Amino acid sequence: MTHHSVCLTFDFDGVSSWIHSFDSPDSPTELSRGLFGVDVGAPRVLDLLDEYDVESTWFTPGHTIDSFPERAAEVWSRGHDIQHHGWSHTRPRQYESEAAERADIERGVESIVDLTGRRPTGYRSPSWDFSTHTLDILQDLGFEWDSSQMANDFTPYYVRDGWAAPADAPFERGVETDVVEVPVSWQRDDFPAFAFSRERGYADERAIFRQWREQFDWMVDNVDGGVFVLTMHPQVIGQSHRLARLESFVEHVADTPNVAFETVETVVDRFD
Ligand SMILES: [Zn+2]
Repeated sequence: MTHHSVCLTFDFDGVSSWIHSFDSPDSPTELSRGLFGVDVGAPRVLDLLDEYDVESTWFTPGHTIDSFPERAAEVWSRGHDIQHHGWSHTRPRQYESEAAERADIERGVESIVDLTGRRPTGYRSPSWDFSTHTLDILQDLGFEWDSSQMANDFTPYYVRDGWAAPADAPFERGVETDVVEVPVSWQRDDFPAFAFSRERGYADERAIFRQWREQFDWMVDNVDGGVFVLTMHPQVIGQSHRLARLESFVEHVADTPNVAFETVETVVDRFD
């Protein structure tokens, strides 16, 4: 019997993404979308996870921890893992320097240590991208794993270093590091599917949940030891009827033999 994992992951951006990734720090309406996630979405999600006794992973910027310490503490005290998602939620390639990126990541570590008493072992990049310095910084700071890249769909692998992508010569893959990648996909992320942006329209929400279910079923049938990472944001998934659809997905997973809900860290601990 092959064992499969489902990692429900929540990028608990709060207002940080609206300040640093969408450049809208002076828009009270945009900021209020983040406040919805903190004040309304997160408690609803936590209640659903409690009901089904599901452990999950919350990638939480230090900015969220320091701005909303009571809610962040609630996530931790209700049994969920808290891992690194930057301090400021700056996209890595937008830092002015390596030193600025390193300082922000170190600050995020401090926020998590203050909250949980332990250092984070894993990192998820804001907006799922690395600068040319990110991997070095993560290794220097003792991170064991990442969940931001996409070179596989349902199977973890080792992140490579020393690759080269010249425009006029063949691609060089580089060499494996000991940093484990637990891959993500834009296809399994609620934000591009559901969050309103002036650059895209609305999706058929039922179709998105059906797609997640079909992807999960395919993994169970076709991948040994598959790891299904679903990325959600409390400010997006925590809206009204979406919780009911997420509950249906959770029930479907729970009814599938040889599948467990696990934190990303638990998956990484088993990987070698
Ligand atoms: Zn984020």
